[in-house]
Amino acid sequence: MGKIAMKTPLVEMDGDEMTRILWQQIKQELLEPYIELNTQYYDLGLPNREATGDQVTVDAAQATQRYGVAVKCATITPNAQRMEEYKLSQMWKSPNATIRAILDGTVFRAPIMVRGISPVVRNWQQPITIARHAFGDVYKAAEYRVPGPGKAELVFTGEDGTEHRQTIQEFQGPGVLQGQFNLDRSIASFARSCFQYALDTNQELWFATKDTISKQYDHTFKDLFAEIFEGEYRAKFQEKGITYFYTLIDDAVARVIRSKGGFIWACKNYDGDVMSDMVSTAFGSLAMMTSVLVSPDGKYEYEAAHGTVTQHYYRHLKGEAVSTNPMATLFAWTGALAKRGELDGIGALTDFARGLERAAIDTIESGVMTGDLAGLWEGEAPAQKVTGLEFLQAIRARL
Ligand code: NAP
Ligand code: MG
Repeated sequence: MGKIAMKTPLVEMDGDEMTRILWQQIKQELLEPYIELNTQYYDLGLPNREATGDQVTVDAAQATQRYGVAVKCATITPNAQRMEEYKLSQMWKSPNATIRAILDGTVFRAPIMVRGISPVVRNWQQPITIARHAFGDVYKAAEYRVPGPGKAELVFTGEDGTEHRQTIQEFQGPGVLQGQFNLDRSIASFARSCFQYALDTNQELWFATKDTISKQYDHTFKDLFAEIFEGEYRAKFQEKGITYFYTLIDDAVARVIRSKGGFIWACKNYDGDVMSDMVSTAFGSLAMMTSVLVSPDGKYEYEAAHGTVTQHYYRHLKGEAVSTNPMATLFAWTGALAKRGELDGIGALTDFARGLERAAIDTIESGVMTGDLAGLWEGEAPAQKVTGLEFLQAIRARL
Protein backbone atom coordinates (compact mmCIF):
# COMPACT_ATOMS: atom_id res chain seq x y z
CA MET A 1 0.00 0.00 0.00
CA GLY A 2 1.34 3.46 -0.91
CA LYS A 3 1.68 6.15 1.70
CA ILE A 4 -1.02 8.83 2.01
CA ALA A 5 0.05 12.02 0.27
CA MET A 6 -0.54 15.49 1.73
CA LYS A 7 -1.15 18.75 -0.10
CA THR A 8 -0.69 21.75 2.22
CA PRO A 9 2.07 21.47 4.81
CA LEU A 10 1.11 21.09 8.46
CA VAL A 11 2.88 23.50 10.80
CA GLU A 12 4.85 21.33 13.22
CA MET A 13 6.05 22.85 16.51
CA ASP A 14 8.43 20.58 18.39
CA GLY A 15 8.86 21.00 22.13
CA ASP A 16 10.72 19.88 25.25
CA GLU A 17 11.66 17.06 27.58
CA MET A 18 9.54 13.89 27.78
CA THR A 19 6.97 15.11 25.29
CA ARG A 20 9.74 15.83 22.76
CA ILE A 21 10.73 12.17 23.02
CA LEU A 22 7.12 11.00 22.63
CA TRP A 23 6.80 13.37 19.65
CA GLN A 24 9.62 11.60 17.82
CA GLN A 25 8.28 8.15 18.72
CA ILE A 26 4.76 9.00 17.52
CA LYS A 27 6.12 10.14 14.17
CA GLN A 28 8.35 7.09 13.80
CA GLU A 29 5.89 4.44 14.92
CA LEU A 30 2.52 5.73 13.78
CA LEU A 31 2.80 8.48 11.19
CA GLU A 32 5.84 8.17 8.90
CA PRO A 33 5.18 4.53 7.96
CA TYR A 34 1.75 5.49 6.59
CA ILE A 35 1.84 9.16 5.56
CA GLU A 36 4.13 11.12 3.24
CA LEU A 37 4.42 13.60 6.09
CA ASN A 38 4.56 17.15 4.76
CA THR A 39 5.32 19.58 7.58
CA GLN A 40 6.87 23.00 8.08
CA TYR A 41 9.06 22.20 11.08
CA TYR A 42 9.67 24.75 13.85
CA ASP A 43 11.79 23.72 16.81
CA LEU A 44 10.20 25.39 19.85
CA GLY A 45 12.42 23.41 22.20
CA LEU A 46 13.89 25.81 24.77
CA PRO A 47 17.50 25.64 23.42
CA ASN A 48 16.30 26.81 19.99
CA ARG A 49 14.04 29.51 21.44
CA GLU A 50 17.15 30.77 23.23
CA ALA A 51 19.28 30.52 20.06
CA THR A 52 16.74 32.44 17.96
CA GLY A 53 15.80 35.02 20.59
CA ASP A 54 12.32 33.40 20.59
CA GLN A 55 11.84 34.43 16.95
CA VAL A 56 11.06 30.79 16.15
CA THR A 57 7.85 31.00 18.20
CA VAL A 58 6.66 34.07 16.31
CA ASP A 59 7.60 32.45 12.98
CA ALA A 60 5.64 29.32 13.89
CA ALA A 61 2.55 31.32 14.84
CA GLN A 62 2.73 33.32 11.61
CA ALA A 63 3.11 30.11 9.61
CA THR A 64 -0.08 28.89 11.31
CA GLN A 65 -1.85 32.02 10.07
CA ARG A 66 -0.63 31.24 6.53
CA TYR A 67 -1.28 27.49 6.41
CA GLY A 68 -4.23 27.26 8.79
CA VAL A 69 -3.38 24.15 10.82
CA ALA A 70 -0.61 23.49 13.36
CA VAL A 71 0.34 20.77 15.82
CA LYS A 72 2.32 21.73 18.91
CA CYS A 73 4.33 19.69 21.39
CA ALA A 74 4.35 20.76 25.06
CA THR A 75 7.06 23.32 25.82
CA ILE A 76 8.81 24.60 28.92
CA THR A 77 7.66 27.97 30.21
CA PRO A 78 10.87 29.32 31.72
CA ASN A 79 11.07 30.29 35.40
CA ALA A 80 14.08 31.17 37.58
CA GLN A 81 15.17 27.55 37.90
CA ARG A 82 15.01 27.01 34.10
CA MET A 83 17.13 30.16 33.55
CA GLU A 84 19.89 28.37 35.43
CA GLU A 85 19.25 24.90 33.98
CA TYR A 86 19.26 26.09 30.35
CA LYS A 87 21.62 29.07 30.79
CA LEU A 88 19.03 31.43 29.33
CA SER A 89 19.74 35.04 28.41
CA GLN A 90 16.10 36.00 29.13
CA MET A 91 13.07 34.50 30.83
CA TRP A 92 11.25 33.90 27.53
CA LYS A 93 7.48 34.25 27.59
CA SER A 94 5.24 31.19 27.49
CA PRO A 95 5.07 30.05 23.83
CA ASN A 96 1.36 29.41 24.26
CA ALA A 97 0.81 33.04 25.32
CA THR A 98 2.82 34.29 22.31
CA ILE A 99 0.91 32.07 19.90
CA ARG A 100 -2.46 32.96 21.45
CA ALA A 101 -1.72 36.67 21.19
CA ILE A 102 -0.93 36.30 17.46
CA LEU A 103 -3.82 33.96 16.59
CA ASP A 104 -6.33 35.66 18.96
CA GLY A 105 -8.17 32.47 19.71
CA THR A 106 -10.24 30.47 22.15
CA VAL A 107 -8.98 27.26 23.76
CA PHE A 108 -11.23 24.19 23.54
CA ARG A 109 -10.48 21.25 25.83
CA ALA A 110 -12.25 17.91 25.68
CA PRO A 111 -11.64 14.59 27.46
CA ILE A 112 -10.82 11.41 25.52
CA MET A 113 -13.24 8.84 26.90
CA VAL A 114 -12.51 5.11 27.07
CA ARG A 115 -14.55 2.18 28.33
CA GLY A 116 -13.07 0.93 31.61
CA ILE A 117 -12.30 4.39 32.97
CA SER A 118 -15.50 6.03 34.09
CA PRO A 119 -16.15 9.68 34.83
CA VAL A 120 -16.82 10.47 38.47
CA VAL A 121 -20.21 11.83 37.37
CA ARG A 122 -22.02 8.64 36.39
CA ASN A 123 -24.46 10.16 33.88
CA TRP A 124 -21.72 11.77 31.73
CA GLN A 125 -21.80 9.56 28.66
CA GLN A 126 -20.25 12.00 26.17
CA PRO A 127 -17.32 14.37 26.53
CA ILE A 128 -17.93 17.90 27.79
CA THR A 129 -15.81 20.45 25.91
CA ILE A 130 -14.83 23.59 27.79
CA ALA A 131 -14.27 26.72 25.70
CA ARG A 132 -12.36 29.28 27.73
CA HIS A 133 -12.13 32.95 26.87
CA ALA A 134 -8.44 33.55 27.55
CA PHE A 135 -8.43 37.35 27.78
CA GLY A 136 -9.12 40.02 30.39
CA ASP A 137 -11.39 40.08 33.48
CA VAL A 138 -9.68 39.27 36.77
CA TYR A 139 -6.50 38.21 34.88
CA LYS A 140 -5.80 41.79 33.81
CA ALA A 141 -7.44 43.65 36.69
CA ALA A 142 -6.16 46.63 38.68
CA GLU A 143 -6.38 46.04 42.41
CA TYR A 144 -6.07 48.16 45.49
CA ARG A 145 -5.93 47.34 49.19
CA VAL A 146 -8.02 50.07 50.77
CA PRO A 147 -6.22 51.21 53.94
CA GLY A 148 -9.10 52.98 55.70
CA PRO A 149 -12.10 55.28 55.35
CA GLY A 150 -12.55 57.04 52.01
CA LYS A 151 -14.52 57.09 48.79
CA ALA A 152 -13.89 54.76 45.84
CA GLU A 153 -15.02 55.90 42.40
CA LEU A 154 -15.10 54.46 38.91
CA VAL A 155 -13.80 57.12 36.50
CA PHE A 156 -13.66 56.88 32.71
CA THR A 157 -12.21 59.75 30.69
CA GLY A 158 -13.11 59.66 27.01
CA GLU A 159 -10.63 60.70 24.33
CA ASP A 160 -12.62 63.92 23.92
CA GLY A 161 -12.32 64.65 27.64
CA THR A 162 -15.86 63.69 28.66
CA GLU A 163 -15.89 62.08 32.02
CA HIS A 164 -18.00 59.31 33.54
CA ARG A 165 -17.80 59.15 37.32
CA GLN A 166 -19.64 56.78 39.62
CA THR A 167 -19.28 55.93 43.30
CA ILE A 168 -18.31 52.35 44.02
CA GLN A 169 -18.29 52.53 47.80
CA GLU A 170 -17.96 54.96 50.69
CA PHE A 171 -15.47 53.03 52.81
CA GLN A 172 -15.89 53.42 56.62
CA GLY A 173 -12.79 51.26 57.23
CA PRO A 174 -10.24 49.09 55.38
CA GLY A 175 -11.28 46.85 52.51
CA VAL A 176 -10.40 45.80 48.99
CA LEU A 177 -11.05 47.21 45.52
CA GLN A 178 -10.69 45.84 42.01
CA GLY A 179 -11.15 47.17 38.47
CA GLN A 180 -11.72 44.70 35.63
CA PHE A 181 -12.19 45.20 31.91
CA ASN A 182 -12.80 43.40 28.68
CA LEU A 183 -13.08 44.48 25.03
CA ASP A 184 -15.99 44.10 22.61
CA ARG A 185 -13.46 42.97 20.00
CA SER A 186 -12.16 40.14 22.19
CA ILE A 187 -15.63 39.05 23.36
CA ALA A 188 -16.88 38.99 19.77
CA SER A 189 -13.98 36.88 18.56
CA PHE A 190 -14.53 34.53 21.51
CA ALA A 191 -18.19 34.21 20.46
CA ARG A 192 -17.33 33.55 16.80
CA SER A 193 -14.72 30.94 17.72
CA CYS A 194 -17.31 29.13 19.86
CA PHE A 195 -20.06 29.23 17.22
CA GLN A 196 -17.61 28.07 14.56
CA TYR A 197 -16.32 25.22 16.72
CA ALA A 198 -19.88 24.08 17.50
CA LEU A 199 -20.56 23.91 13.75
CA ASP A 200 -17.26 22.11 13.07
CA THR A 201 -17.86 19.48 15.74
CA ASN A 202 -21.63 19.31 15.40
CA GLN A 203 -22.31 19.92 19.08
CA GLU A 204 -24.67 22.18 21.02
CA LEU A 205 -23.19 25.33 22.50
CA TRP A 206 -23.94 26.50 26.04
CA PHE A 207 -22.88 29.87 27.40
CA ALA A 208 -23.42 31.27 30.87
CA THR A 209 -22.60 34.43 32.80
CA LYS A 210 -24.05 36.26 35.82
CA ASP A 211 -25.90 38.92 33.86
CA THR A 212 -28.70 39.30 36.43
CA ILE A 213 -26.17 40.71 38.89
CA SER A 214 -23.63 42.21 36.49
CA LYS A 215 -26.02 44.23 34.37
CA GLN A 216 -23.37 46.00 32.27
CA TYR A 217 -20.29 43.78 32.33
CA ASP A 218 -21.67 40.25 32.02
CA HIS A 219 -24.71 41.51 30.15
CA THR A 220 -22.41 42.76 27.39
CA PHE A 221 -21.05 39.22 26.96
CA LYS A 222 -24.61 37.88 26.76
CA ASP A 223 -25.71 40.58 24.29
CA LEU A 224 -22.71 40.21 21.97
CA PHE A 225 -23.16 36.43 21.85
CA ALA A 226 -26.87 36.85 21.09
CA GLU A 227 -26.26 39.50 18.43
CA ILE A 228 -23.58 37.48 16.63
CA PHE A 229 -25.65 34.31 16.84
CA GLU A 230 -28.72 35.99 15.32
CA GLY A 231 -26.78 37.82 12.65
CA GLU A 232 -24.31 35.18 11.53
CA TYR A 233 -25.00 31.72 12.88
CA ARG A 234 -28.69 31.00 13.55
CA ALA A 235 -29.33 29.71 10.04
CA LYS A 236 -26.17 27.59 10.02
CA PHE A 237 -27.08 26.08 13.39
CA GLN A 238 -30.61 25.28 12.14
CA GLU A 239 -29.17 23.60 9.08
CA LYS A 240 -27.06 21.32 11.28
CA GLY A 241 -29.84 20.78 13.80
CA ILE A 242 -27.81 22.11 16.72
CA THR A 243 -28.76 24.78 19.26
CA TYR A 244 -27.23 27.70 21.11
CA PHE A 245 -28.36 27.89 24.71
CA TYR A 246 -27.77 30.75 27.16
CA THR A 247 -28.37 30.52 30.89
CA LEU A 248 -27.10 31.85 34.22
CA ILE A 249 -23.79 30.41 35.41
CA ASP A 250 -25.31 28.87 38.58
CA ASP A 251 -28.04 27.24 36.53
CA ALA A 252 -25.38 26.03 34.09
CA VAL A 253 -23.30 24.17 36.70
CA ALA A 254 -26.39 22.34 37.94
CA ARG A 255 -27.38 21.39 34.38
CA VAL A 256 -23.84 20.28 33.51
CA ILE A 257 -23.79 17.85 36.44
CA ARG A 258 -27.21 16.45 35.49
CA SER A 259 -26.37 16.26 31.77
CA LYS A 260 -25.27 13.33 29.63
CA GLY A 261 -22.44 15.48 28.17
CA GLY A 262 -21.87 15.90 24.45
CA PHE A 263 -21.85 19.71 24.26
CA ILE A 264 -19.52 22.71 24.34
CA TRP A 265 -19.60 24.85 27.45
CA ALA A 266 -18.34 28.36 26.71
CA CYS A 267 -16.98 30.03 29.83
CA LYS A 268 -15.76 33.48 30.75
CA ASN A 269 -12.07 33.51 31.63
CA TYR A 270 -12.33 32.77 35.37
CA ASP A 271 -15.19 30.27 35.00
CA GLY A 272 -13.19 28.45 32.30
CA ASP A 273 -10.06 28.34 34.45
CA VAL A 274 -11.91 26.78 37.37
CA MET A 275 -14.39 24.59 35.48
CA SER A 276 -11.86 23.06 33.09
CA ASP A 277 -9.88 21.66 36.03
CA MET A 278 -13.06 20.34 37.62
CA VAL A 279 -14.37 18.77 34.43
CA SER A 280 -11.01 17.24 33.40
CA THR A 281 -10.46 15.75 36.85
CA ALA A 282 -13.97 14.33 36.89
CA PHE A 283 -13.32 12.69 33.51
CA GLY A 284 -10.03 11.06 34.60
CA SER A 285 -6.66 12.60 33.69
CA LEU A 286 -4.91 15.52 31.95
CA ALA A 287 -3.11 12.99 29.78
CA MET A 288 -6.55 12.06 28.37
CA MET A 289 -7.50 15.59 27.38
CA THR A 290 -7.31 17.17 23.94
CA SER A 291 -6.76 20.87 23.47
CA VAL A 292 -7.12 23.07 20.40
CA LEU A 293 -6.78 26.78 19.91
CA VAL A 294 -9.24 28.06 17.31
CA SER A 295 -8.96 31.58 15.93
CA PRO A 296 -12.04 33.53 14.84
CA ASP A 297 -10.94 33.29 11.20
CA GLY A 298 -10.69 29.51 11.36
CA LYS A 299 -7.02 28.72 12.08
CA TYR A 300 -6.34 25.68 14.27
CA GLU A 301 -3.50 24.85 16.63
CA TYR A 302 -3.69 21.38 18.24
CA GLU A 303 -1.72 20.50 21.37
CA ALA A 304 -1.79 18.38 24.53
CA ALA A 305 -3.35 19.87 27.66
CA HIS A 306 -0.48 18.72 29.89
CA GLY A 307 3.13 19.93 30.20
CA THR A 308 6.49 18.39 29.31
CA VAL A 309 6.28 15.80 32.15
CA THR A 310 9.63 16.88 33.61
CA GLN A 311 9.79 14.32 36.40
CA HIS A 312 9.47 11.44 33.93
CA TYR A 313 12.12 13.05 31.70
CA TYR A 314 14.69 13.21 34.51
CA ARG A 315 14.06 9.52 35.26
CA HIS A 316 14.33 8.73 31.54
CA LEU A 317 17.72 10.51 31.45
CA LYS A 318 18.88 8.21 34.26
CA GLY A 319 18.06 5.24 32.03
CA GLU A 320 14.78 4.26 33.67
CA ALA A 321 11.94 2.95 31.49
CA VAL A 322 9.14 5.47 32.13
CA SER A 323 5.46 5.01 31.50
CA THR A 324 4.39 8.40 30.09
CA ASN A 325 0.99 8.57 28.44
CA PRO A 326 1.26 9.74 24.80
CA MET A 327 -2.53 9.90 24.17
CA ALA A 328 -2.95 13.68 24.34
CA THR A 329 0.10 14.26 22.12
CA LEU A 330 -1.03 11.60 19.66
CA PHE A 331 -4.51 13.15 19.53
CA ALA A 332 -2.94 16.56 18.84
CA TRP A 333 -1.41 14.97 15.73
CA THR A 334 -4.57 13.14 14.68
CA GLY A 335 -6.70 16.25 15.26
CA ALA A 336 -4.37 18.32 13.08
CA LEU A 337 -4.05 15.69 10.34
CA ALA A 338 -7.81 15.11 10.21
CA LYS A 339 -8.40 18.87 9.93
CA ARG A 340 -5.73 19.15 7.20
CA GLY A 341 -7.40 16.30 5.31
CA GLU A 342 -10.80 17.96 5.69
CA LEU A 343 -9.58 21.35 4.44
CA ASP A 344 -7.62 19.86 1.53
CA GLY A 345 -10.27 17.31 0.57
CA ILE A 346 -8.00 14.33 1.32
CA GLY A 347 -10.46 11.82 2.74
CA ALA A 348 -7.77 9.17 3.19
CA LEU A 349 -5.83 11.43 5.56
CA THR A 350 -8.87 12.21 7.72
CA ASP A 351 -9.90 8.54 7.75
CA PHE A 352 -6.40 7.47 8.72
CA ALA A 353 -6.32 9.97 11.61
CA ARG A 354 -9.71 8.79 12.89
CA GLY A 355 -8.65 5.16 12.51
CA LEU A 356 -5.51 5.85 14.51
CA GLU A 357 -7.58 7.41 17.31
CA ARG A 358 -9.84 4.35 17.30
CA ALA A 359 -6.82 2.01 17.47
CA ALA A 360 -5.42 4.00 20.42
CA ILE A 361 -8.71 3.85 22.32
CA ASP A 362 -9.13 0.15 21.51
CA THR A 363 -5.62 -0.53 22.82
CA ILE A 364 -6.51 0.96 26.21
CA GLU A 365 -9.88 -0.78 26.24
CA SER A 366 -8.08 -4.10 25.67
CA GLY A 367 -6.21 -3.49 28.95
CA VAL A 368 -2.86 -2.16 27.61
CA MET A 369 -2.10 1.28 29.09
CA THR A 370 0.41 3.58 30.76
CA GLY A 371 0.83 3.84 34.52
CA ASP A 372 -1.32 6.94 35.02
CA LEU A 373 -4.36 5.04 33.72
CA ALA A 374 -3.64 1.66 35.29
CA GLY A 375 -4.62 3.07 38.69
CA LEU A 376 -8.00 4.24 37.37
CA TRP A 377 -8.74 1.09 35.39
CA GLU A 378 -11.91 -0.83 36.18
CA GLY A 379 -12.20 -2.87 32.99
CA GLU A 380 -12.58 -6.65 32.89
CA ALA A 381 -9.16 -7.55 31.48
CA PRO A 382 -6.40 -6.89 34.02
CA ALA A 383 -4.45 -3.70 33.28
CA GLN A 384 -1.13 -4.34 31.56
CA LYS A 385 1.15 -1.40 32.37
CA VAL A 386 3.59 -0.53 29.57
CA THR A 387 6.04 2.26 28.68
CA GLY A 388 5.00 5.08 26.37
CA LEU A 389 6.91 3.49 23.47
CA GLU A 390 5.45 0.03 24.10
CA PHE A 391 2.01 1.59 24.17
CA LEU A 392 2.61 3.22 20.76
CA GLN A 393 3.86 -0.11 19.41
CA ALA A 394 0.72 -1.83 20.71
CA ILE A 395 -1.36 0.76 18.86
CA ARG A 396 0.64 0.09 15.69
CA ALA A 397 0.04 -3.65 15.98
CA ARG A 398 -3.69 -3.00 16.28
CA LEU A 399 -3.71 -0.46 13.45
P1 NAP B 1 3.10 18.29 33.61
O1 NAP B 1 4.19 18.20 32.64
O2 NAP B 1 1.71 18.29 33.05
O3 NAP B 1 3.24 17.10 34.64
C1 NAP B 1 2.71 17.10 35.95
C2 NAP B 1 2.49 15.67 36.43
O4 NAP B 1 1.29 15.18 35.84
C3 NAP B 1 3.56 14.69 36.00
O5 NAP B 1 4.66 14.69 36.88
C4 NAP B 1 2.79 13.40 35.97
O6 NAP B 1 2.55 12.91 37.29
C5 NAP B 1 1.44 13.84 35.44
N1 NAP B 1 1.39 13.81 33.97
C6 NAP B 1 1.23 14.86 33.11
N2 NAP B 1 1.19 14.45 31.86
C7 NAP B 1 1.33 13.11 31.89
C8 NAP B 1 1.39 12.10 30.90
N3 NAP B 1 1.30 12.41 29.59
N4 NAP B 1 1.55 10.80 31.27
C9 NAP B 1 1.64 10.50 32.57
N5 NAP B 1 1.59 11.40 33.57
C10 NAP B 1 1.45 12.69 33.22
O7 NAP B 1 3.21 19.63 34.46
P2 NAP B 1 4.47 20.27 35.24
O8 NAP B 1 5.36 19.20 35.78
O9 NAP B 1 3.86 21.23 36.15
O10 NAP B 1 5.24 21.10 34.14
C11 NAP B 1 6.38 20.61 33.44
C12 NAP B 1 6.81 21.62 32.39
O11 NAP B 1 5.76 21.73 31.41
C13 NAP B 1 7.02 23.02 32.93
O12 NAP B 1 8.26 23.51 32.44
C14 NAP B 1 5.87 23.84 32.38
O13 NAP B 1 6.27 25.14 32.07
C15 NAP B 1 5.50 23.10 31.14
N6 NAP B 1 4.07 23.20 30.75
C16 NAP B 1 3.80 23.34 29.43
C17 NAP B 1 2.51 23.36 28.95
C18 NAP B 1 2.27 23.50 27.50
O14 NAP B 1 3.19 23.57 26.72
N7 NAP B 1 1.03 23.52 27.05
C19 NAP B 1 1.45 23.21 29.86
C20 NAP B 1 1.74 23.03 31.22
C21 NAP B 1 3.05 23.01 31.64
P3 NAP B 1 3.49 11.81 38.02
O15 NAP B 1 4.85 12.43 38.13
O16 NAP B 1 2.80 11.64 39.33
O17 NAP B 1 3.50 10.58 37.17
MG1 MG C 1 -6.21 26.83 36.19
